[in-house]
Amino acid sequence: MTAILSSLPRRKFDVVVIGAGGAGMRCSLQLAQAGLSVAVLSKVFPTRSHTVAAQGGISASLGNMSEDHWQWHMYDTVKGSDWLGDQDAIEFLCREAPNAVYELEHFGMPFDRNPDGTIYQRPFGGHTSHFGEKPVQRACAAADRTGHALLHTLYQRNVASRTHFFVEWMALDLIRNDDGDVLGVTALEMETGDIYILEAKTTVLATGGAGRIWAASTNAFINTGDGLGMVARAGIPLQDMEFWQFHPTGVAGAGVLITEGVRGEGGILLNKDGERFMERYAPNLKDLAPRDFVSRSMDQEIKEGRGCGPDGNYVVLKLDHLGADVINKRLPSIREIAIRFGNVDPIKEPIPVVPTIHYQMGGIPANYHGQVLQWDAASQSNKVVNGLYAIGECAAVSVHGANRLGTNSLLDLVVFGRATGNHIVDTHLERQREHKDLAVESVTKSLDRVNALETRASGEKVQDVGNAMRIAMQQHCGVFRTLDLLNKGVAKIDEVAEQAKNIYFKDKSKVFNMARQEALEIENMIEVARATIKSASLRTESRGAHALNDHPERDDVNWLKHTLWYSNDGRVEYKPVQMKPLTVETIPPKARTF
Ligand SMILES: Cc1cc2nc3c(=O)[nH]c(=O)nc-3n(C[C@H](O)[C@H](O)[C@H](O)COP(=O)(O)OP(=O)(O)OC[C@H]3O[C@@H](n4cnc5c(N)ncnc54)[C@H](O)[C@@H]3O)c2cc1C
Repeated sequence: MTAILSSLPRRKFDVVVIGAGGAGMRCSLQLAQAGLSVAVLSKVFPTRSHTVAAQGGISASLGNMSEDHWQWHMYDTVKGSDWLGDQDAIEFLCREAPNAVYELEHFGMPFDRNPDGTIYQRPFGGHTSHFGEKPVQRACAAADRTGHALLHTLYQRNVASRTHFFVEWMALDLIRNDDGDVLGVTALEMETGDIYILEAKTTVLATGGAGRIWAASTNAFINTGDGLGMVARAGIPLQDMEFWQFHPTGVAGAGVLITEGVRGEGGILLNKDGERFMERYAPNLKDLAPRDFVSRSMDQEIKEGRGCGPDGNYVVLKLDHLGADVINKRLPSIREIAIRFGNVDPIKEPIPVVPTIHYQMGGIPANYHGQVLQWDAASQSNKVVNGLYAIGECAAVSVHGANRLGTNSLLDLVVFGRATGNHIVDTHLERQREHKDLAVESVTKSLDRVNALETRASGEKVQDVGNAMRIAMQQHCGVFRTLDLLNKGVAKIDEVAEQAKNIYFKDKSKVFNMARQEALEIENMIEVARATIKSASLRTESRGAHALNDHPERDDVNWLKHTLWYSNDGRVEYKPVQMKPLTVETIPPKARTF
């Protein structure tokens, strides 16, 4: 081993989990309780992960307030995904949902209650009864702070189970040997600026979303797609990156989220004429149609001159008719956000809102055990990447396909966090071998990447590169897309990626140097932006959140397939959607109306 490597501090664990959001902590809990040595890394204190910001709820067909079945939930999720979701994973998600939520209840999660003591459930976009007939009450909620309640519950359980947290640590790169096995990660201790080698028999990526590649986003600043950058650099493709969800109701001008739970409670969208325009676009579900649908309808209203305000560039969300009692009890944080960021008190006035980037449906290809997959085109089959799992928003399992239903993400975190934990525990004996020999070349590559940043004395400023990327994504990859816009966007992002090869920061100090962290994050975001815009420019159909003006129809003959993008040469491949569920009949594609 080279001298530089032997001087690096090294730690060994059974499992290293990167990310302490809902997914990472649900998984680590399973591992710690089984007695495995587990380290959980997080850039921020665990309970500050973006999961804490989730507002509206977590779905499960409990049927507490109206009749419900997991098959209805499965149907809605497949239809919501515009048939791009894998039906085996979707069946697993919806069948497991009630157990996963009851388990959270037993962990002590403080859900709102009905008078009979059962969990309170509100309607949410795209969730229906009787296979699409009318909205159903499926979103289990703790006021408008469901993610907060969930994350704190999981954190407390992990502390009780002695999970080892590495707080304010940033994972840098996967360590992968010539056989393709993943042996752990390199990581930066932010407090000291020291780099460590963390060796693990199993590595789990739970790094969350990357919504910060756009200028206007509901996402936290730490959502920079680090896990996606790590796998892209390690030669593993990113899946379905053209599919990004715009949430219909970000506060205009600020981007902060107003939960769909507001419409679940009875809030409605109005244009400048005071018209409830969703009645025209989705006569059945109206304001509770899925998000891609509502976002496009809003965009259409604004484009056709029916937007509100002096510039006609937003619509409004009216909820004053719900009354102060309901607003204060069920939506207290929303009232606060509207007052602080929208300058209106929703008890009296409507909130100005615009579609805002919110969630990535694509990500690291994984199956419903959480195992990361690499597609083998020659044999037309998936191969498991040994020692690597991915869960939560960074993974494409794929249960959300081309469009996620609200409340299905919190569910995805706990169902697949738990399933992945179980799979690792069940197969741990097979992995009882000693830690494999460290892949020196892979570690050196990671160190070279950091050193290049450390030693560069001039170049492009991190902020300038970041702004250029965010503006290009905002201009070229919006709610409605055209091939011309996308192709120009590909060229722009390529240009930004070239600049990013030369980024530099002036302050080279070691202790809590945020400039270093931001530079490392930009490298990850650029991978995500490249994957997104290239994959989008090649999909010549409209499906879910990918709405292409030049090709407005869904094309199942040519495009019922997943996109796989490779970082090294920007190549794109495709693989089939898993149409066969585990135990029930396939839900065949049909027109998606609401
Ligand atoms: C405002 C908002 C409201 C939402 N509301 C809902 C809702 O009501 N219902 C619903 O179902 N979904 C909702 N969503 C979506 C859902 O909350 C997210 O998809 C989900 O919480 C993501 O969880 P996660 O565990 O994958 O990642 P996160 O909670 O984002 O956690 C990521 C973790 O990874 C760590 N990390 C990242 N990179 C590194 C690195 N390099 N090294 C070390 N650690 C790293 C971070 O520190 C963090 O701990 C909402 C999203 C937003 C933004």
